Amino acid sequence: MIEPTTGQPCAATVIFNLPEYRVLSAALTAFGVRRITVESTGVPGCPACGVVSARVKDRRLQRLRDVPLAGAVVVLWRKRRWFCDEPACPRGSFTEATDEVPRRARSTRRLLHALVDAVIRSGRAALEAARAHGVSWWLAQTALDAAAATLPDVDLLAPKRLGIDEHRYRSVRWYRADEASPWVRVEPWMTTIVDLDTGQVLGIVDGRDSTGVGDWLFARPLAWRLGVEVVAIDPSAAFRKALRMWLPRTAVSVDAFHLVQLANQAVTEARQRLSQEIKGRRGRAVDPGWANRRLLLRGAETLSGRGRARLRAVFESDDPTGQLQAAWEAKEQLRTLLASGALEEARDHLRILEGLVEAAPTVETKRLLRTVKRWWNEIEVLITTGATTAKVEANNTAIKNIKRTGRGFRNPDNYRSRILLRSAAQTAA
Ligand SMILES: [Zn+2]
Repeated sequence: MIEPTTGQPCAATVIFNLPEYRVLSAALTAFGVRRITVESTGVPGCPACGVVSARVKDRRLQRLRDVPLAGAVVVLWRKRRWFCDEPACPRGSFTEATDEVPRRARSTRRLLHALVDAVIRSGRAALEAARAHGVSWWLAQTALDAAAATLPDVDLLAPKRLGIDEHRYRSVRWYRADEASPWVRVEPWMTTIVDLDTGQVLGIVDGRDSTGVGDWLFARPLAWRLGVEVVAIDPSAAFRKALRMWLPRTAVSVDAFHLVQLANQAVTEARQRLSQEIKGRRGRAVDPGWANRRLLLRGAETLSGRGRARLRAVFESDDPTGQLQAAWEAKEQLRTLLASGALEEARDHLRILEGLVEAAPTVETKRLLRTVKRWWNEIEVLITTGATTAKVEANNTAIKNIKRTGRGFRNPDNYRSRILLRSAAQTAA
């Protein structure tokens, strides 16, 4: 049965295809289990002195976890113990180890790679990947942890443009310390820091206040921080204030998407307020404004002829004060402003926005204009650099998938490492 180590490997060895091993036997047990016995073909070097050994001391069978091969297989390694014949070496004997199965390992490296691949690249849940490979969730998670430990050091990267954005990493929970205490709403937020040029997630920190991000940035080397030219954030005053402290020489850009969201919010709030003031009730399906509430939030340039006609009908029939139309026009003017190609153009659009709000000053339009003016420096950085948090948002979509496949992470560390691994894999691809 044992083939010579030179020349062509036997058919079973070729099919089994485990580097540094050859198949000694392949048998079907009484229970219908396929059992494959392998032996290492590598040169056994003593781990203490490195001298190659030629004398076998003893052999024993070790069970190996391996990838399924056309179904489940039981793999046994006939592992040898060798004498070290180097007289100066304190070690009398040693057990062989291979790259596929390092010392103390019980799984082949190709199995661990397959598990990490299934979870990170194919986006399967760790438990699902484990089941498909006939191993425990624990082993899959250990493989993921080991992969996370080899992630490239963030401090060795030199990102020029960062994006910072928050997301909720699981649903809201209610919590109370004991029977007597009141229930507290717990919103598990995490903040993601992304390299805007590569899209790679550099860090994930707890919470969405400025402390977590501040600590993370402070942990980076000074040269790293000085190398950052632009940071894109959503309009959060806390972040902006804190960024001035952490990255004083870095320009801050505000994300256009989040500003448009604020403008959409102004339209919706105006619609709801007007319904209460004029009709004394909330909007209903019979109200053109309510029926077309989503159309009101669409970008004007994406509207079809029919959509434009419907919108015109809303303003004619369901907007006696003209305030809904004013909010809509302010929203569209802000969108035009944010799409400016140059600062001069943006400043002209700001003057038009000011004119619109002056002509129809409502609670909502005045507040929107105030926000725009408060964030004007950051808007100018946005128009000059084009740095938006869109890449962070894209990652957040990927993160949502991770959350869904993970079916709720109880352990935030597992969650974090999954995101970093996936992002690193995508960046490398
Ligand atoms: Zn030795």
